Order: sequence, then C-alpha cells, then structure tokens
Amino acid sequence: MAADPNCIFCKIAAGDIPSTTVLDSPLAIAFLDVGPLADGHVLLIPRDHYERLDQMPADVFGQVAALLPKLGSALQRVAGVDAYNVLQNNGAAAGQEVGHVHFHLIPRCPGDGLGYRWNAKSYAAGRADELAARFSELLD
Ligand code: 5GP
Ligand code: ZN
Repeated sequence: MAADPNCIFCKIAAGDIPSTTVLDSPLAIAFLDVGPLADGHVLLIPRDHYERLDQMPADVFGQVAALLPKLGSALQRVAGVDAYNVLQNNGAAAGQEVGHVHFHLIPRCPGDGLGYRWNAKSYAAGRADELAARFSELLD
C-alpha cells in the first residue's frame, strides 16, 4: 500500500508533517523520535504504508533493513555511545502505537536506566518440538 491518509508516519514521509529527518532514501526515511528514550533515538520507516512487518514484501523489507547498519553506525557516533537497541513492535500487545512499520534505534549507555523486562521461561517436555513442527508446516 502506498500511503494511508490517516497515518501520521505516511504524513511525515510525504513531508506533510514536519520531522527532523536524518536519512532520506528512495524507499525509507529516518527521523528523530519526538519522544526520545535517549538523545539521538531515531525511527527508520519504509516510505510506503505497511502496518506490520509481516505485511511487507520481503524485497522491500530487505532494502529498508539494509539501511540499519549505516544508521546504527552513525547513531553511535552522534550519540557518543557504543551500544544501541533496535526495537520493532508489531501489534498493540507488543507496544505498537503507530500503525506504520518502524524500527526504533535507541542509543544505550551503562546506567541509563532504560532496561526492559525479560522474564524468561522454560519449555515443558515436548513443547519445543511441537512448536518447531508447527513452524515447519508453515514455513515449508
Ligand atoms: P511504537 O510504540 O508504535 O513502537 O512507537 C511509536 C513512536 O513514534 C513513539 O516512540 C513516539 O514517540 C513516536 N512518534 C509518535 N508520533 C510522532 C510524530 O509525530 N513525530 C515523531 N518524530 N515521532 C512520533
Ligand atoms: Zn503509514
């Protein structure tokens, strides 16, 4: 889908809403998050409207994702850090608030207090094999 008239990131991509753009390429742009978790927190988005990652054609995804290494490299130099997170939320339960695919690049440094909960569980006997079999059916 090219653009959604109700989508704030489509409006940013079209230049109809101002943003602080840091990368401008044919298929994607990156701009500063208006509510940064750290100085230099940027969002990389495809120019075209896709609500979720799994709706993107693989080739478009590939071309957008190919910008992550150089953006991540620049982000470290701009923010003066040697660590960052790439975060990409799909669906409200995953924390997605804007329904246009975006990658957060968040500079990190020791003691920044950001963190996140990582409540690791373990699989009951046989459950991992069940899940792997289901993945295989769908991905074959
Ligand atoms: P999500 O929770 O959907 O993964 O993240 C959406 C992000 O978009 C948030 O971090 C929020 O601060 C950012 N955001 C929302 N509206 C705007 C906007 O109009 N301009 C910019 N630059 N960022 C926005
Ligand atoms: Zn959009």
